[in-house]
Formats: sequence, structure tokens, C-alpha cells
Amino acid sequence: MDAEEKTLKERYESVLERLDRAVTGAGRKRDEVRLIAVSKLHPAAMVAEVAALGQVDFGENYVQEALEKREELASMGVRNISWHMIGHVQSRKAPLVAGHFALIHTLDSVKLALAMERRLAEQDAIQKVLIEVNVGNESQKSGIDAADLHELCDHVAQECPHLDLQGLMCIPPVFDAGEGARPYFARLRSLAEELRGYTGRALPELSMGMSGDFEWAVLEGATIVRVGTDIFGPRPPKKD
Ligand SMILES: *Cc1c(COP(=O)(O)O)cnc(C)c1O
Repeated sequence: MDAEEKTLKERYESVLERLDRAVTGAGRKRDEVRLIAVSKLHPAAMVAEVAALGQVDFGENYVQEALEKREELASMGVRNISWHMIGHVQSRKAPLVAGHFALIHTLDSVKLALAMERRLAEQDAIQKVLIEVNVGNESQKSGIDAADLHELCDHVAQECPHLDLQGLMCIPPVFDAGEGARPYFARLRSLAEELRGYTGRALPELSMGMSGDFEWAVLEGATIVRVGTDIFGPRPPKKD
């Protein structure tokens, strides 16, 4: 039976089983790792179906789509969802996202931090964020270079009292590579350790691992894995 013939429920349950095995294999506890179901480009009805199976955390990449889907689900009566922004956020869209997500995984510049801080100060709201690190040093990828992490952390600590920095996130430069992604997960983990010393903050969260490699991320200490395809199936193409 290939992936397309399985039901959404079967795919979701098989991801939960893989996650259980990965956590046990890593000698960790299941409640140390949160699963985010990545629903970008999939309809609200599929989110509702997975939410009905008990899934709470959902991740979206595109601001407009995320906000629309959230409203659609609210109007369907599906409310106990924690929404995560896991896609790149342009500074001009900061006012649309700041204060509206359980966690924004993709803070990647001083400019974006300032734009979110301005909006949060107006609303008197606190927003939890992760810094996205470009662990592969790829020129066209989003995420901040590791060399600029201290500057961004200093900026957040000094100028952004409404941003609550919780840790780091990465997308490795290799896709569906399984163990091939592991060195990048190890790199994010050691960057987080270094930053804990530098900032004196707990920075507990490591958001890393997707459908093709999340077991390896769990082995390297992921506290959040982001799984799309292996739960929802192949994504329909993006219309813009
Ligand atoms: C799309 C996406 C995912 C999910 O990827 P899959 O390979 O479909 O599991 C995870 N993280 C980010 C940042 C994404 O954009």
C-alpha cells in the first residue's frame, strides 16, 4: 500500500508511531518532543480531521493562507489549535503575525525583530519566537548566519521586551536525506548550547526535523519536529 492509498488517520498514526520509536530509541521521553502538523497548502477540512484525532499544534508557511485557514477553522467550530508560523516572514508582514501565533519559528533579522516589537508594544502582547539559523550557509536560504546570532540576540534582549526568545530553528540544506541531515541538527544543537551560555537564557526549544529526517533530529535533541507530507500526503501546488 503506498502513501496515497492510506487514509489521513493512518498516515497520522504512523507518524506518531515513528515519533514514539524515535524518542524511545534516543532514550528520551515522549513529552520532550512536540509534533507540529504542517498544513500549508492543504485545506482547512484536513486540518479539522487531524485536530479531531487529538493533534493540537499546526504549522503554516504563508501569512495570508495561515490567517484565512485559522478563521475558516474557527467558523467550523475547531478552536483548540496552537498555530505556528514556520515560513519566512517579510518585515512588512510583521504586523499581521506578531501576537497571533503560539510560536513564530522564523525570526531571522534585526529588521523583522524591530517590526514585530513595534506592533507588540502597541498591543501590549508578548510573542514567543525562535531564531531561524541558516545552518548550511546557503546564500539563497532564509535564516540568519550563525556568525550574526550574538548581534540578533543582543538586539532582542536590549530593544525587544515583547519578544520572548525560546530557542532556535533550522531547515537543513539537504532534503529527505535521513541521516544526511544529522550534522546540521547537531550544529543547531551546539549553537543553542553556546547561546545559552552567552545570553544566560534557558532557550529550551530546538525546532528541527521534517518528514524525511525527523528521527535524526530527535536523536540530536529536537524539542519540536515539523511534519507535513507524511501526515497530509503530497502538497498541491502553490497558487499565487
Ligand atoms: C513544509 C515545511 C515542513 C514540512 O515538510 P515535509 O517534508 O512535508 O514534512 C517543515 N518545516 C518547514 C519550515 C516547512 O516549510
